Order: sequence, then structure tokens, then C-alpha cells
Amino acid sequence: MNERVLIIGGGLGGLFTGALLARNGYRVTVLEKNATPGGGLQTFVRSGERFETGMHMLGGFRRGGSLARICHYLGILDRLRIRPTDPDCMDSLHYLAEGERYAIPGGRERFTAYFAERFPLEAEGVRRYVEALYRLSEEVGMFYLREDSVSIFSHSEEFLCPADELIARYVSDPRLRDVLAYMNPMYGGVAHHTPAYIHALVNVLYINGEDRFVDGSSQLAEALSDVIRAGGGTVETRAEVRTIHCEERTIHSVETADGRRFTADRYISAIHPCTLLRLLPEGSLPRAYRQRLDSIPNSYSAFTLYLTLRPDAFPYINHTCYCQISHGEAWRFGAYDDLWPRGVMYMTPPVSDQGPFSRKMIITTPMSFEAVRRWESTTTGRRGAEYERWKAAQAARILDLMEQLHPGFRTKIETLHTSSPLTIRDYYGVKEGSMYGFCKDAQQIALSQVPIFTKIRNLLLTGQNINLHGICGVPLTAINTAEALLGTNRLIHAINTKYETDHGTDSFTY
Ligand SMILES: Cc1cc2nc3c(=O)[nH]c(=O)nc-3n(C[C@H](O)[C@H](O)[C@H](O)COP(=O)(O)OP(=O)(O)OC[C@H]3O[C@@H](n4cnc5c(N)ncnc54)[C@H](O)[C@@H]3O)c2cc1C
Repeated sequence: MNERVLIIGGGLGGLFTGALLARNGYRVTVLEKNATPGGGLQTFVRSGERFETGMHMLGGFRRGGSLARICHYLGILDRLRIRPTDPDCMDSLHYLAEGERYAIPGGRERFTAYFAERFPLEAEGVRRYVEALYRLSEEVGMFYLREDSVSIFSHSEEFLCPADELIARYVSDPRLRDVLAYMNPMYGGVAHHTPAYIHALVNVLYINGEDRFVDGSSQLAEALSDVIRAGGGTVETRAEVRTIHCEERTIHSVETADGRRFTADRYISAIHPCTLLRLLPEGSLPRAYRQRLDSIPNSYSAFTLYLTLRPDAFPYINHTCYCQISHGEAWRFGAYDDLWPRGVMYMTPPVSDQGPFSRKMIITTPMSFEAVRRWESTTTGRRGAEYERWKAAQAARILDLMEQLHPGFRTKIETLHTSSPLTIRDYYGVKEGSMYGFCKDAQQIALSQVPIFTKIRNLLLTGQNINLHGICGVPLTAINTAEALLGTNRLIHAINTKYETDHGTDSFTY
């Protein structure tokens, strides 16, 4: 076959799509603007420690899981170093004002039993709520790599109701409603708007088994790049696409910042669609389509602390820690005001010789892009002294919160680095530094549905804005995009057949 495919953007979506196509005879060229490929999978080293930028928590890697199947098909599963979180406490949740603490176990039965025990008057509601989460996830055949994907519009009413309303249908205690929304920072949920199915898929993904990379997420980017190279393709770094030459609804070539031109038979955009629009000549896509993409709101961004910790000072924690300042804030995380930070998510990422103490910590705090709007025209390293002072002040607010959780926390820190919504915007080239791209809106579901196909004949789309974000969604969309070239269900069938031939037909172990 040897058809040539050029992919713009070497992040999670670009690399998965490229690897799937390379495995099927396509000659793939990936153009990535940064010095290393990976996008959200990229890592960086500060003070001798490796930090992940945008992929801390994994799901779908347990036996029979979607990611385990896809990675096995690509021949890379065995080389990934992954550590399960503690099954007795996959996540902890702390409410500062109320002094409440939850140690939330993984696994459907244990998750249900835990909350039923903590809220005995709501036990039946909890059971029915968890059933609803799994029922909604079953409506997305793709989530389980089934060959029966149906249109978003043929789902149940509950599927598209707002996530906060879904919870409220099953439980009446406001505290429990709040607790059950604790994974909000993993999907950027907005009250009355985020559809229940997003909440359900993210919850089910992690309840079925939450894992983390050992020594950082860039290993997945490297493994996927190797699959592309093994198929005769290349992953070009420092190759920022600046112009796409397109006439009569056909792309003829793309041009990088350093003036190189690349041609291919097919082009796939794996960057934020609004970034793509700026690279295309005016008029190459219908005005209504462009206006719609520009008008879709994006999920909130984040302010992050990357800390190296003194030796033997802070324990390694084998789960993700969520903290909220009080009840009632779960759906207001993104807001930036006097109450910020309303909550943090922190973790001690595992390393291969992990001992009882951790030498690093990542603290992520949802933040609206509005917080940095006044510096939006600046570029990395040239944002000015006022911005640096502002960043230091935000870091201090987060550390004040951490002091309440772990008294004396500041004394355990060796070095501190920060990133803001501007860092995310410029690093990934994503509009407003959004963590998860286009918001899905239960009130106007059609607005955020962006098809893989475009009016440009040889251009397809992939990445987190097309369906669902994160490790839960981007690799699945990569399959959809690759199948647009290979034929419907061909890949899913091949992925499942290979997995079942090699591992038997067991499904999830939970
Ligand atoms: C702080 C943070 C924490 C997160 N934590 C998690 C988590 O724990 N678990 C999880 O599942 N998800 C997490 N996510 C979400 C996850 O990282 C994203 O959903 C995922 O990376 C999106 O994949 P993508 O391919 O669409 O975009 P990206 O991975 O962002 O890839 C886009 C790529 O395109 C490149 N690019 C942009 N413009 C150009 C251009 N003009 N030319 C060439 N290249 C270009 C970028 O440099 C980038 O490499 C997190 C995100 C953030 C920001």
C-alpha cells in the first residue's frame, strides 16, 4: 500500500494514530513542534527529577482493558512500566473545612460498598448510582472496543443529562453528591453542562483500575514513535507547521517554521482545531464551520507546582490525593477568585527504585485562563517581572493549603518550579491552555461534536477535541481516525482478535 500520511502534532493523538496506520502499511510522517514528541506525554527534568506534564493517571491498562488491547496490538504493552495504585485506596479525598477524609478503593464492588458504608442512609442510592455509571459506559461501545459504535444522538436521556443532575437523581445527601463528583479535575466538569456520560466514562475508567507510569509518561511516546519508525515512517521534532497550502479543498503541502515543505497523500491534524484554522488559508473551510469551532468553550486550564523533595522527608504515596477547601466547591474548580485554589490534586509519581520516601511531587490546581489573560500576548521566558511575582504568589497560596494538610510541608521542599495556563497554551499549542480541549455541553450537544472528516478532501482530524480527552478517549479516537482510512471496524476487530488469541477471552478482572 505505502500510502503516505502526514500528521500535524506529535502528541497522544498524533502518535497513536500514526502508530496504528504504520502498523497497517502506511508510511507516516509526524511533525511535532517541540524538541521531543509526546504532547501530554512529554516529560521534563528539573533538579535531577523527571516530571510528567499532562499524563499522571492511567486507566484501561488492566487485563482486558482498552489500552492494554491497543498497546498489545502495537507490540508495545510489555515494554511499558506501569504501577497500579493501592487497591485499598486508589484515591484519597480530603475536605479541609470539615476535616473529612475518604480513602476510596478501586473496583466496582469495593467502590460501591465503601460509599454505602460511609453513607448508610444512601446505600441503595449509591448502588443504583454505580449501576448507572456502568450502564452509561456500556452505551459507548467504543469504550469497550466493541464493533457497534452508535451515534451520540441515539443514546438514553440519562446519557446526555448534566453530570451533577445524574448524581442528584440517585443520592440526596448534598455531602455525598459532592464527594461523588471528586474526579471533576480529571474532566473539567461544569455544573448543568458537562454531560453525564463524560463523568461516567472517567469514573468507570479509574474505578476499573487506576495506574501510573513508573519513570514518566514519555516512555509511551517513545514506544509509539518506534512503531512509526518500524513502519518506515519518521517523527520529526522541532518541526512546527506554520502554513498549510490548500487549494480547491485539497491540501498540497505543509510548511514548517524553518521553511521545509512536506507532501503526502493524506493529512491528519492532531492539534487543537482552532490552532489548525490559523494555519489554513482563509476560505479553505466553510465560514460557518470555522465560526462554530471558534465559539466552542474550552475546559479550564491548570496551575501546577513541580517540587523536588528533600531525602527521606515525605512519604511515597501510592495513590492520587484530592483535596477541597470545603464541601460545595466540586463544580466550581475552574473559577479564579479570592477562594482560589478551591482544591488541589497532588501525587508522588513512582520511579523504578521507589523506596518508602518520594523525591518529587506534582500539585495540579484547576485555573481559568482569565487568571493570566493580561499576559496573553507574551511568550515563554519573556513574560516579565510582574508575571513572575504573580506566579510566586499563586505558588504560595497552594503551599498554604498544603501546610494545612501536611504541617511543616514547606520545610520538605528542595526546589520548586511552576507552570501556568500560559505554559500549557504555548507548550501544547492549545487554545487558552485548556487541559481537556473543547467542553462538551449537555445543553447543546451538537455544538461540540466535531467529526473526523472535514470539507478538505484529504484532511482528517484526531486528538482530544474530537471525542473524549485523556488516556480514556484520545487512543479510541485514534482508532476512529485510522479506520477512516482502513475501513470501519477493521482495526477494532484486529486489536481484539490479537489480544484474545494471545490472552484468552477474559474481560476486565474487576
Ligand atoms: C496539566 C494536565 C494534566 C493532565 N493529566 C492527565 C491525566 O492524568 N490523565 C489523562 O488521561 N489525561 C490527562 N491530561 C489530558 C491529556 O494530556 C490530553 O487529553 C492529551 O494529551 C491530548 O492529546 P492530543 O493528542 O489531543 O493533544 P496533545 O497531547 O497536546 O498533542 C498535541 C501536539 O501537537 C503539537 N503541536 C501543536 N501545534 C503544532 C504545530 N503547529 N505544528 C506541529 N506540532 C504542533 C504540540 O506540541 C503537541 O505535542 C492532562 C492534561 C493537562 C494539561
